[in-house]
Amino acid sequence: MFETVIGLEVHVQLNTKTKIFCSCATSFGEEPNKNVCPVCLGLPGALPVLNGEAVKKAVSFAKAVNAKVNQNSIFARKNYFYPDLPKAYQISQFEIPIVGKGWLDIEVDGEKRRIGITRAHLEEDAGKNIHEGEISKVDLNRACTPLLEIVSEPDMRNSDEAIAYLKKLHSIVRYLEISDANMQEGSFRCDANVSIRPKGDEKLYTRVEIKNLNSFRFIQKAIEYEVERQIEAWQEGVYAKEVVQETRLFDTDKGVTRSMRGKEESADYRYFPDPDLLPVFIDATLMEEAEKIPELPDEKRARLVRDFGLKEYDAGVIVADLEMARFFETMLSEGVSAKGAVTWLTVELLGRLKGESGVQNSPVDAKRLACLVKRIEDETISGKSAKEVLDVLVAEGGEVDAIIERLGLKQVSDDGAILSVIDEVLAQNGDKVAEYKSGKDKLFGFFVGQVMKSAKGVNPAKVNDLLKSRLG
Ligand code: ADP
Ligand code: MG
Ligand code: ZN
Repeated sequence: MFETVIGLEVHVQLNTKTKIFCSCATSFGEEPNKNVCPVCLGLPGALPVLNGEAVKKAVSFAKAVNAKVNQNSIFARKNYFYPDLPKAYQISQFEIPIVGKGWLDIEVDGEKRRIGITRAHLEEDAGKNIHEGEISKVDLNRACTPLLEIVSEPDMRNSDEAIAYLKKLHSIVRYLEISDANMQEGSFRCDANVSIRPKGDEKLYTRVEIKNLNSFRFIQKAIEYEVERQIEAWQEGVYAKEVVQETRLFDTDKGVTRSMRGKEESADYRYFPDPDLLPVFIDATLMEEAEKIPELPDEKRARLVRDFGLKEYDAGVIVADLEMARFFETMLSEGVSAKGAVTWLTVELLGRLKGESGVQNSPVDAKRLACLVKRIEDETISGKSAKEVLDVLVAEGGEVDAIIERLGLKQVSDDGAILSVIDEVLAQNGDKVAEYKSGKDKLFGFFVGQVMKSAKGVNPAKVNDLLKSRLG
């Protein structure tokens, strides 16, 4: 029996306005080589200057994952050649990262686990190579944009835990608003380190690193493929030979990992302190500023359960995504009940939005959905009619009240009007009333049915109450 061992390195692009060592913009999707200057082009003699905002965001992150902040940290040069790295070194942190040891809690199938964070350091990103047939081009817009690289302990034991960890990390950086964490644009990407070992063995065996994964689905598939591959190698008795420490890429079309290169050791990079940058010192004022962080997903979840009586599961669904949490809280601020908001958001609205498009792309905004729930809660329409209204809102947009009007869904809830229908029904069924009064309780349902039939859209709860009072 084998156990899987996974450690993750996550690169998060920080959402500073300007790059980490120069004042070029960090905007995504610009014309190639538009956001560049002598510093990020790596021209000789140009000097980097550290962006204080990037430091502040890293410290906020430390606070969020219970990590120690190194008040003094230094930048180092990591030397390697790549066409999209014009200086032939990357400015990163090595011996003393800005964020030290921390942890975060994950939950898989109701079971809690604590995953260690080894460190998180600041570094500059490289540019992008673009290959077009025979020609390769380099775009340096991304060069020198700020990254926070978050390294975990090898604490995860299966791909579900890895995904839970990544989703947690993703939501934390979104809640902190230190990154847009857009995975398609590469603002949140992951290298997965995977090895296996006989269950019970404490030793770490040779690992493989799968580079640059940028969707949760692919990360999960890549890990699962890699585990299978290593188990086969072990069973064939060739683990040590077949599983060499190396960097692999995941082929998303074929669903397999492929060797890219032998794994470098840190000595290969010839790290040394960057003489162009002063050591970073974080003073008490900056520390205090950066540690003022908003409510995080776990705290919010606990509060929703405690203050609004939400079920743990529902609260979990709501806080997992910042946009969901905001949507929900806007609904509450519009004055609907928490229970109504949860059901209409997580079951009815999400059920109508297709596949991956989250609530941030919803054609129905929080205020409109709240208005719909209010119309159920003030008994203007029934829950059943509200579903019809929501169908229209999702398909065509529009305003709740206008749709209710147009579809004629307003229910009769005026007592007088309902009573007159009731009286009519009872008058027409005098024999049944007599039977009911002599003990045939079942007939109550019959009366309700008759009333509902002649007064379409009437509120059934009201009919029940009024009928009971009439029949004594
Ligand atoms: P490098 O930059 O060389 O990949 P790092 O120290 O930055 O090294 O990252 C190493 C990552 O690999 C960490 O997340 C660590 O937890 C993980 N790791 C180390 N050894 C193993 C192993 N045997 N199996 C799985 N993951 C491992
Ligand atoms: Mg690595
Ligand atoms: Zn620049």
